[in-house]
Amino acid sequence: MRGRPRPGRMVLFWDYDTQWGADRSRSGEGPKAWGPEEFTNTERLLTMLERYRVVSCFAVVAAAAKPGARPYHDPEQIRAIHHAGHEVGCHSLHHDWLPGLAPDRLRENLRRSREVLEACIGAPVETFVPPYNQPFHYPAALSFSQSERAEAGPDHLGFGGLCRELKSTGYRFCRGAYRPLPQRVMERVLRRSVDWPGTLKRIAGISCLRLNAGCGFSDAARQMVRRCAREGGYAVVYGHPHSLSTAGPQSFACLEALLAEVRELVGQQKLQVVQPRELVNHV
Ligand SMILES: [Zn+2]
Repeated sequence: MRGRPRPGRMVLFWDYDTQWGADRSRSGEGPKAWGPEEFTNTERLLTMLERYRVVSCFAVVAAAAKPGARPYHDPEQIRAIHHAGHEVGCHSLHHDWLPGLAPDRLRENLRRSREVLEACIGAPVETFVPPYNQPFHYPAALSFSQSERAEAGPDHLGFGGLCRELKSTGYRFCRGAYRPLPQRVMERVLRRSVDWPGTLKRIAGISCLRLNAGCGFSDAARQMVRRCAREGGYAVVYGHPHSLSTAGPQSFACLEALLAEVRELVGQQKLQVVQPRELVNHV
């Protein structure tokens, strides 16, 4: 199924970073302190998702599934996510920046993190979401990252290489964020982001969907969901549980407005909410 599926579909991801991700923040101001919010907001989030009957995929930093206390660990909450019907995917072992990892370290990271998560929930983990949405570099789709090359050297990992390693370590789905050069040029000319309903791609044997709705649940995400309901295709929406208690586009209020609209479109049979694990045989 390479075209746009009809009715349109939404895939909702949560990047569950915990304090492991906060410690490795690359925003330029060093480690952050939002780790505890990942857990407290997830409690409220699970209740809200249940109320709107929307399933999602939590991309979990695997170290958080090891025994221990918040803000670094909570295997019980990860099991609760699984038992509530949400998919548990992998977000690397410690929220690692993948373009800089050597092939053997990357393979070990992917293998070990899947084992840790599967041991925690007692079910297969097939979906991978790369931390920081990187690598962006994917020449086969005309996506080039000068910054990844500058930081990690000429032999740095690209998105195709990541998919090859994911295949060899037992994954079946990966979320991508590469942006082809023609799209970037168009965005520069129009001075706004340009996106369209997504299609499933198969890269090195891995099913892939690219982000196309920005980060969070404000206008860009809602417009993409509405457009997919009209035209078919995938809206790929994501946010961070720890950001739900902030005032921006990832807030609980923005999320609730999106969920209410999704519920209505689902009721009208114009939209389906799907999880990545349902998409691995559909390419
Ligand atoms: Zn993350």
